[in-house]
Amino acid sequence: MSKINKICKNCVSDTSIQNIKFDKDGICQYCKIHSELEKEFPLDHSSLDKLKSIAKKIKNDRKKSKYDCIVGISGGRDSSYLLYIVKKILNLNPLAVHYDNGFDTETSTSNILNVCSKLNVDLETKVADWETFKKITRSFFLAGVSDPDTPTDIGIFKTMYEIAYKEKIKYVFNGHSFRTEGVEPLDWTYMDGLYVKSINKKNGKNNLDKFDNFTLFDLIKFNILGGIKTILPLNYVEYNHDEVQKILTDELGWTYYGGHHHESLLTKFVVSYYLPNKFSIDRRRTGLSAMVRSGKIKKIDALKVLEKKPKVDDEKYLKDYILDKLDISDKEFKLIMQMENKNFRNYHTYYSYFKNFGVFAKFLYQLGFIPKLLYLRYYGKD
Ligand SMILES: [Zn+2]
Repeated sequence: MSKINKICKNCVSDTSIQNIKFDKDGICQYCKIHSELEKEFPLDHSSLDKLKSIAKKIKNDRKKSKYDCIVGISGGRDSSYLLYIVKKILNLNPLAVHYDNGFDTETSTSNILNVCSKLNVDLETKVADWETFKKITRSFFLAGVSDPDTPTDIGIFKTMYEIAYKEKIKYVFNGHSFRTEGVEPLDWTYMDGLYVKSINKKNGKNNLDKFDNFTLFDLIKFNILGGIKTILPLNYVEYNHDEVQKILTDELGWTYYGGHHHESLLTKFVVSYYLPNKFSIDRRRTGLSAMVRSGKIKKIDALKVLEKKPKVDDEKYLKDYILDKLDISDKEFKLIMQMENKNFRNYHTYYSYFKNFGVFAKFLYQLGFIPKLLYLRYYGKD
């Protein structure tokens, strides 16, 4: 991390993000991506109608399946609210899919069950092969990289598409909102199947057969052969955290779990302990930047939030629990914390291929197979 901290003139993104770029006016690249998405998904009196007409088309297109779409559910706020919108506002018949990596909190598990049962939505849970998942996640920590929750994200992604393919469902709905979540920098979290393979090769050589990896072959299979498209419905609706939590609590028996992404103990440990202490990365910066851009919080107030380090009450217990569960000894963890900070750029990935296949990726996003946000995250703004 650079000693001289430079911060975006507009949001709270700064040089704790490696490779962040600022234009001549001091505006960061993530603000530009936000403006681009704002142009495509403007919030006005007609945005909900646009979403409803997409839903109508999805319903009309449904032929071979009982379900209109897949909604991935974690028990967290965003995915629970997405399921609510899909069922109550859009009147679609979704299949909720959960990927259980062994780190769900009791609250998230009961949230998933309550939300699905109150909304009368079918739920399919895929339980990750624990031994394989543990070894791969352990390898990510041993590799000293900033995204040890990448195996989880890949598992979720693969599971949603695999079930969609099997059930002949043409749409996967994603609960991301660029207005509240923002764009996660690639240098903080990066996701591809080759990255998993190369970290595994260097730090474990475990058998990956039982891991739900997502390869380029999968991308082609699910997008081109399966014709599965991804939709981000929350981009079309006004999203206020407090109001949403009230709806979820009052109507669906949902409970708040104390912090953003704390519905998983692994993610809670990564964002509140591992990243701030080893990398000086505060992942709240991404969401706060997004909320500054969309006028949900003032920049000065976002900076105040960031001044207080992300802390959890049960830090020591949480750390011991995670390390014990992943078979990481105290000695190994000390070495991990002291070793050079790394990320996907230190390992073999599809990134260089992606860079060469920009035209193909643009084609995929223009046809609706990959979200514009994902395209912009990898390729930046033209
Ligand atoms: Zn910015």
